[in-house]
Amino acid sequence: MHAIGIDIGGTKIAGAVVDEAGGIVRSERVPTPAGDSQLLEDAVVEMIRTLSDGAADDVVVGVAAAGFIDAAQSTVYYAPNIDWRNEPFRAKLEARVGATVVVDNDANAAGWAEFRFGAGRMVSDMVMLTIGTGVGGAIVAGDRLFRGGFGAGAELGHLRVVPGGLPCGCGQRGCIEMYGSGRALLRMANEIADAGGIGLQLARAREASGALDGGIVGKMIEAEDPGAIAALRQLGHWLGEASASISAVLDPQRFVFGGGVAAAGELLLGPIREAYLEHLPARGYHPEPDFVIAELVNDAGVVGAADLARVWAAEHA
Ligand SMILES: [Zn+2]
Repeated sequence: MHAIGIDIGGTKIAGAVVDEAGGIVRSERVPTPAGDSQLLEDAVVEMIRTLSDGAADDVVVGVAAAGFIDAAQSTVYYAPNIDWRNEPFRAKLEARVGATVVVDNDANAAGWAEFRFGAGRMVSDMVMLTIGTGVGGAIVAGDRLFRGGFGAGAELGHLRVVPGGLPCGCGQRGCIEMYGSGRALLRMANEIADAGGIGLQLARAREASGALDGGIVGKMIEAEDPGAIAALRQLGHWLGEASASISAVLDPQRFVFGGGVAAAGELLLGPIREAYLEHLPARGYHPEPDFVIAELVNDAGVVGAADLARVWAAEHA
């Protein structure tokens, strides 16, 4: 059975028909109508109609979006990028297109795709951390996506690593998002540039371009500039420390790292492993998980959303 996956991002809505092996049969993409929830809903309806060739009642549709979504995969409690508050998005879409629809958090959808078809497919318990502008999380426990009792679980970016630390967008302080995200990497790179020494090239790049951004620091990491590598090591250290705490709770066989910063590959995973072992409770008695990079770079959201719809349909047949 084919399923449709839709991933509502900040700038674009991606949609695809996905086969049972996670392969993309057909795909579409349109800009996200910013700030207007009615136009956004219209765009998603249009995309479902296009992808289903007018036969929407024969397909299942999974929609992924950023935000808190209830455990019944129906209502968006809160979305950071659009004015949804307790939005019954599933019921609205089902009424308009006639298909079975489920709604899931975007990080959960991406994590599920890695678990089913990517870097997590050989294990039963997996944790994914997505290192983009912020830090996203997804948990698979015992072959099932873990959502929590209210659907708002697996927000691993808000695991506290520094009591009284830097203020986070969530209203708390010291979350791993402030120490292990792309934004944190830029802050660390700027601090190293300010300090001189190994930061000399970072300072020069900053002067030449006006400000450091993810592209510049990413290229300097690739070129193994010592300042950029030092910033990445700091980031990896924090992520490894957070992973050790996660292991104490969830004991996954595998940690998967996705998002833009994960393009650094082994240069990121090395410091993560080191810090993980340093901070692992009961080290030496605890089997050690693998640390790997995500495999489904661009399509994880749509592939995961489609497969979650298929899972829902199978469980409710
Ligand atoms: Zn936070």
